[in-house]
Amino acid sequence: MSYMKAATAHINLDALAHNLARIKHKAPISKVMAVVKANGYGHGLRHIAKNAEGADAFGVARIEEALQLRASGVVKPILLLEGFYSANDLPVLVTNNIQTVVHCYEQLDALEQAELEGPVVVWLKVDSGMHRLGVREEQYQEFVERLHRCDNVAKPLRYMSHFGCADELDNPMTKQQIELFLSLTEGCNGERSMAASAGLLEWQSSQLDWVRPGIIMYGVSPFGDKTAADMALSL
Ligand SMILES: *Cc1c(COP(=O)(O)O)cnc(C)c1O
Repeated sequence: MSYMKAATAHINLDALAHNLARIKHKAPISKVMAVVKANGYGHGLRHIAKNAEGADAFGVARIEEALQLRASGVVKPILLLEGFYSANDLPVLVTNNIQTVVHCYEQLDALEQAELEGPVVVWLKVDSGMHRLGVREEQYQEFVERLHRCDNVAKPLRYMSHFGCADELDNPMTKQQIELFLSLTEGCNGERSMAASAGLLEWQSSQLDWVRPGIIMYGVSPFGDKTAADMALSL
């Protein structure tokens, strides 16, 4: 996606505040995890995070981004959206209060084997149909049980999933993803999150405890056939 490669992009801070207010209006019950990966979609990681007052937490791709935010004084929760890459990262997560996704056996094994000074907040990422990152339906129970048994994992466990094509409003897959995720996680007592920009705007039943908007914060429509103005976003 070309917008992620842009070295610098500009958004005025009134527009950022307006877009965050739109997000709150659209998803009034959910908490907002503002996604600032890829240098805040080219707008400057720290610049966006410091000015995103409506955000309850931040989502980043890499641990370096999370550490930059902590170094610049950000105290809100920060989640590694793709999890950690090396067991050596785990003590760094504990020290800096950084949350992680778990989506594969390598991460699960590393958590079980680590000796940590405290527990890590973990979001179990479920593959509800995107077939990219995530624990498949038939692996789900094993991951839940092992994570629950693991003292290095803060309880309650949290749960998330990501849509494959929520921007295609006539594609039946999104509804199937929502139904699968809700049925797998039914009765869990941890927080849940599915919706990124397109989900939170157009698939209300996916809003759940946390929404994870990226592109709409920056005033860009997630839909090919709707402009940012159609969605009442500002740039
Ligand atoms: C990038 C990303 C988002 C934000 O997606 P947008 O479509 O830009 O809103 C949300 N969740 C995860 C896991 C992501 O990787």
